[in-house]
Amino acid sequence: MSEMLENKETLGRFQNVVDRLASACVRAGRQGDAADLIAVSKTYDAAHIRPVLEAGHRAFGENRVQEAKDKWPELKHEYEGVELHLIGPLQTNKVKDALGLFDVIQTLDREKLARAFVKARAQGASLPSFYVQVNTGCEPQKAGQLPDAVDGFLKMCREECQLNVVGLMCIPPVGEPAGPHFDLLAHIAARNGLSQLSMGMSGDFETAVAHGATAVRVGSAIFGQRG
Ligand SMILES: *Cc1c(COP(=O)(O)O)cnc(C)c1O
Repeated sequence: MSEMLENKETLGRFQNVVDRLASACVRAGRQGDAADLIAVSKTYDAAHIRPVLEAGHRAFGENRVQEAKDKWPELKHEYEGVELHLIGPLQTNKVKDALGLFDVIQTLDREKLARAFVKARAQGASLPSFYVQVNTGCEPQKAGQLPDAVDGFLKMCREECQLNVVGLMCIPPVGEPAGPHFDLLAHIAARNGLSQLSMGMSGDFETAVAHGATAVRVGSAIFGQRG
């Protein structure tokens, strides 16, 4: 396919997601702009991302530090105001790289990682804002705090480590209705006085909005199926 046609298709999908998101907010009785769109550009190169940047969009998500490091410094230089979210697992030895690159870390999921950020701050780094990831389905292979441990973890992050935790993030189990997981996340956030909920992907972002999402992470519905 020609690059021009590809760009046009990406733009069409992007606009469609923007419209569906606004409609979902209104249907939920919320303001049309109540939920932010984070365009998940993982696996897509700069050429695929540029049309969305050209359309004025600025919030993007990546799940791997190295991949983000390869493509975003240049794009951030080119387009002002980009806000890059880390939505994948972070190893403590990648914290320094992540700090130079990401404006928001959505995958704060364990004490060791919280401590690594505290250490980086002691060495002069300024820290981004954080979402704590919650493993709402208690899946053994999935990262995130378990629902009954998250209150204690949040207290440690906020009071002891003084990290700027703004909200919670979850990835519901595949093949289960997502609604109950979104409700659980909203419930945990409310009891901890957190206002931001990052939940919902291409297949369920409208459901997430109905359950109170303030940020949705949408990849394939914008950029196309990943290869
Ligand atoms: C890939 C990914 C997304 C986007 O998934 P799509 O189904 O392509 O919209 C959202 N959140 C996380 C954590 C991801 O890894």
